[in-house]
Amino acid sequence: MEYGTVVHSCCCGCGLEVVTPLTPTDWKLTFDGEAISLWPSVGNWNLPCRSHYVIQGNRVIEAGPWDKTQIDAEKRRDKAAKTHYYSQTESPRAPKELKPKPTKEPLGTTAEPATIWAKLRRWLG
Ligand SMILES: [Zn+2]
Repeated sequence: MEYGTVVHSCCCGCGLEVVTPLTPTDWKLTFDGEAISLWPSVGNWNLPCRSHYVIQGNRVIEAGPWDKTQIDAEKRRDKAAKTHYYSQTESPRAPKELKPKPTKEPLGTTAEPATIWAKLRRWLG
């Protein structure tokens, strides 16, 4: 959690470390109190084993190999998602104009809050 990253040993058993960054455009780690799930699937295209699986509810579900076309498509999707996401966050919307909240006088106002309002109005000029 601290580093926003999940590191696990490749589930095929080759023992190589698989690093999955947790970001809005990468993986999501969910823990329901009993089991963890990692989404989307983990595709180790850059490992010799080229394994591909989904971790859901503490279980590893084999997802079958992807061919080059699918890998390229995923790389494009990932790049597009990142470009889209970071272009949004880098230009945050202009802060909304600060307007005083419309204050509705509550029904059956007692003398006390009324005095406060009167004081406040005077104070605000
Ligand atoms: Zn492996």
